[in-house]
Amino acid sequence: MISSPSSYLAILILLISISLTKSASIEENFVQCLSFYSDKAAPFYASIYTPNNASFNNILNSSAQNLRYLVPSAPKPEFIFTPLTDSHVQVAVTCSKKLGIHLRVRSGGHDYEGLSYVSEIETPFIIVDLAKLRDVNVDIGDNSAWIQAGATIGEVYYRIHEKSDVHGFPAGLCTSLGVGGHITGGAYGSMMRKYGLGADNVLDAKIVDANGNILDRKSMGEEFFWAIRGGGGGSFGILLWWKIKLVPVPKTVTVFTVTKSLEQDASKIVHKWQEVAPTIDENLFMRVIIQPAASTANKTQRTITTSYNAQFLGDSEKLLQVMKESFPELGLTKQDCTETSWIKSVMYIAGYPNDTPPEVLLEGKSTFKNYFKAKSDFVREPIPETGLQGLWQRLLEEDSPLMIWNPYGGMMNNFSESDIPFPHRNGTLYKIQYLTLWQDGDKNASKHVDWIRKLYNYMTPYVSKFPREAYVNYRDLDLGMNKKNSTSFIQATSWGNMYFKDNFNRLVKIKTKVDPENVFRHEQSIPPLPVSTMQLKDKKCKRWE
Ligand SMILES: Cc1cc2nc3c(=O)[nH]c(=O)nc-3n(C[C@H](O)[C@H](O)[C@H](O)COP(=O)(O)OP(=O)(O)OC[C@H]3O[C@@H](n4cnc5c(N)ncnc54)[C@H](O)[C@@H]3O)c2cc1C
Repeated sequence: MISSPSSYLAILILLISISLTKSASIEENFVQCLSFYSDKAAPFYASIYTPNNASFNNILNSSAQNLRYLVPSAPKPEFIFTPLTDSHVQVAVTCSKKLGIHLRVRSGGHDYEGLSYVSEIETPFIIVDLAKLRDVNVDIGDNSAWIQAGATIGEVYYRIHEKSDVHGFPAGLCTSLGVGGHITGGAYGSMMRKYGLGADNVLDAKIVDANGNILDRKSMGEEFFWAIRGGGGGSFGILLWWKIKLVPVPKTVTVFTVTKSLEQDASKIVHKWQEVAPTIDENLFMRVIIQPAASTANKTQRTITTSYNAQFLGDSEKLLQVMKESFPELGLTKQDCTETSWIKSVMYIAGYPNDTPPEVLLEGKSTFKNYFKAKSDFVREPIPETGLQGLWQRLLEEDSPLMIWNPYGGMMNNFSESDIPFPHRNGTLYKIQYLTLWQDGDKNASKHVDWIRKLYNYMTPYVSKFPREAYVNYRDLDLGMNKKNSTSFIQATSWGNMYFKDNFNRLVKIKTKVDPENVFRHEQSIPPLPVSTMQLKDKKCKRWE
C-alpha cells in the first residue's frame, strides 16, 4: 500500500482523475482506485462481478442463507469484489472510503437479516466477499491455529482433525458458518459448557481498520481486541485472520438424540430439563429441538416433539451414569448412544447422515437454506408448565416453526459479563432460538413474521428482563435499526443493551476511537458518538481548504 508523504501528488492525481470521471460507473471508479493502490503482483481484475457478469447471481447467492433477502425486490449490490489477498481487502477499504461507496463484508453469509449481502438503509452499496480467503494453518505443537476469515468453521474442524484426534475448537454447530462473522459475535457450540465460546478462545487477530491498515493484537491494543471478540460483525473493521486456541477432546465422544412427544410426557420432561441441562456434568451438551410433527396416535393431528440432541465428551458408560443420576426422566439407554470420534460427533450434531466422510466439510456447503425469520431470548428462571402449554399451542398454529433451546452453565459461568462483549453468562439457564421457515418466497412472509412477533410477546414474562437479552449473532432487526446514513446512540441503545448489556457503552467508546467516521456500518452496527463525528468532519474540511 502507498502511504508515504511522497505519494500525496499521486493521490491528488487519482482524486482529480476520479472526479473527472464522475460520469463513470461506481465499478469503473473503484477499479481505477484499486489499480492505483494495489500491489501489481496480485491482480484483482477477475475478482469483480457486476450484474452483467454471468457469475453475478451465483456469487451473490452462493453463501447467502436467508432466501428472504434474495427475493427480486431486495436491494442488490453494484458489484461484488472477492479479494484474493489480504492487501486486496486493505485496498477495498481505502477505495470505498475515498470514493464514498458503502461497503458490506461477507464471510460465510449466515447473517439472519442478510446484513452481509443486502443494505436496506443505504444504496448504492458493494459487497466485499471473503470466500476466496480461507486458509487454515494448524500448529498442534503450539495448540493453536491461524484461520482466515472466509474459511467455514467446518473447514477449521476438519483441518484440526486432520492433524490430531485429541484436539478441537469450541465454536458453532452448523459447519458452514464463516469464521469472519461467526467468532466476532461470540460463537457458541457443543463444547461451550466445557470451554466457553469461540470468542473466549481467541489468542490474536488481524484486522483491516477504517484507515486501511492491517493491525494485529499488539498494534490494535487490548481495547480494540476486546471489542472484536463478541461485539458483532461489520462495526470495527474487516477481520482477516483469527489465531485460535485449540482445546483437548477425548478420543471417544458419545452422541444421542431422544425424542419425546406430548403423548410421552414431553412437557414434564422439558420442564425438568430446564434445571438439569445447565447444571449437569459440563462434558454434556444436551440441547432440545422443539417443533410440531404428526401425532403417532392420530395421524390427522399434530403434536409437539422435543428432541434431546446431545454430545458428551466421553464414553457411553460414563454418560449413562451421568444421565441416570441427574436426568432419569429421559430414559436414555445404551442403544440410544453412539460412540464416535470428535469430528464425527460434530458432523452428527450438524445433521450429516452417519456415513458422510469428514471431507465433506471442505466443501463448505450449507445444509440449511431457507426463507426464515428468527429471534432469541435468554431464560434465567424455569418456565412453569402452564407457560409451556401456551407455548405449544402457539407452535401448533404455525406451518413450520422451530425452537432450539441451548443449555448454558458450566464454563459459561466462569467468565465475567465483561470479559468480552458477549454478556450472557452466570445465571443464564439456556438460550431460546425461535424460528419460522417457509418456502413460498415473499408471498406470505408477513404472516410468518407476525406469528413470530406474537410468540415473542407471549414469552415476555418467562425470559430475561431489564434488559431482555438477545444474541447478536441471531441478528433481529425488530429490535431496532440505524437510520439511513446516520446512527444515533440513543436509538442504538435499544438493541445494543439487549445484545451487550453494560458492554454496549464500552463498545461505543471503542468504535468512536477506531472508526469515528463510521466507515463500517449497517442496520445494527455500533454507532460512534456523534459529537466526535462532527468534530472530525470539521477537521477534515479544514485540512482540505
Ligand atoms: C443455519 C445457521 C446456523 C447457525 N448456528 C450457529 C451456532 O451453532 N452457533 C452460533 O454462535 N451461531 C450460529 N449461527 C449464527 C452465526 O454465528 C451468525 O449468523 C454469524 O454472524 C455468521 O457469520 P458468517 O460469516 O457466516 O456470516 P456473514 O453473513 O458473512 O456475516 C455476519 C455479519 O458479520 C459481518 N462480517 C462478516 N465477515 C466479517 C469480517 N471478516 N470482518 C468483520 N465483519 C464481518 C457481516 O457484515 C455481517 O454483519 C447460525 C446461523 C445460521 C444461519
